[in-house]
Amino acid sequence: MDWNTLADKALGGEVLSDEECLGVLRAPDEALPDLLEATSRVREHHCGRRVRMKVLINAKSGLCPEDCGYCSQSAVSRAPIARYPLLSGQRLLDAARQAHAARAHTFCIVDSGRKPTDREVDQLAEAARAIKAEVPIRLCFSVGLLTEATARRLRDGGFDRGNHNLNTSERFYDRICSTHTYQDRVATVRAITAAGLSPCCGVIAGMGEEDQDLIDVARALRELHVDSIPVNFLHPIPGTPLGSRPRLTPERCLKILCLFRLLNPSRHIRPAGGREVNLGALQPLALYAASSLFVGGYLTTPGQPPAEAVRMIEEMGFEVDEGNGREP
Ligand code: SF4
Repeated sequence: MDWNTLADKALGGEVLSDEECLGVLRAPDEALPDLLEATSRVREHHCGRRVRMKVLINAKSGLCPEDCGYCSQSAVSRAPIARYPLLSGQRLLDAARQAHAARAHTFCIVDSGRKPTDREVDQLAEAARAIKAEVPIRLCFSVGLLTEATARRLRDGGFDRGNHNLNTSERFYDRICSTHTYQDRVATVRAITAAGLSPCCGVIAGMGEEDQDLIDVARALRELHVDSIPVNFLHPIPGTPLGSRPRLTPERCLKILCLFRLLNPSRHIRPAGGREVNLGALQPLALYAASSLFVGGYLTTPGQPPAEAVRMIEEMGFEVDEGNGREP
């Protein structure tokens, strides 16, 4: 396969065919340098050499009635994690200050559960107001299923972006969760967009899906016009239903990132949970496809410290895009 032809198509606004997408996912490992080089043309055209860092806080942990098979916070998980209700506004403000000091572009407040209560929405909106009054950082939430009216209340508090992941294809969705549907998730992404927020929506690779599922969900994200795409690589957590799945190879992760860039050329592609354990020493190469990184850890698992991420970004010849609260 000619990777530069695929990159030219992506730059020209064409959607790659199934055959071309499968060619990317099934590329021989020896072809990876050329695939990354071609993909990096698309990345640089749309995102330059900039990398946005995003910091997460697990603002409410565990206590979730849903049964997502990958998640340590679900009702069916036996993983030994911390469980606590929504953190105070002061704790969230302190964490936002630390994220800004670490050069993060975006601070994301994550709240476990099927959907937030009315009281939690008020608390989150109040916390957002306090953060925006003091810290020049973009604010994102990830709080479960939402209506447009609830998303508007969060936007009015000061949030810029809302996250809700599709996680996998519609076909595969009921293999990873039985308590809500793929369509519930699509409706939440649409509600976030309709409320005037920037939509962030991503996936988890490595849950036993087929190549076609990754292609289908990458195309679904294109059709939903999401701005930002976290690409998680399953970090199998003992005590969860998917806890014994094998890890992905670093090469497989890089090919998946290339696929998401080629199908969503102008979006922020972000290697997310499982980056460190699945990509290992090849993490720096992800920057040829990706324009954003989570730093400092995920919800219940640790991640690369921000200072190390900054060093990696700069040693690879990229630059940290702090944004200072300006861009969406
Ligand atoms: S992913 Fe979200 S909805 Fe699913 S079990 Fe975990 S916290 Fe609950």
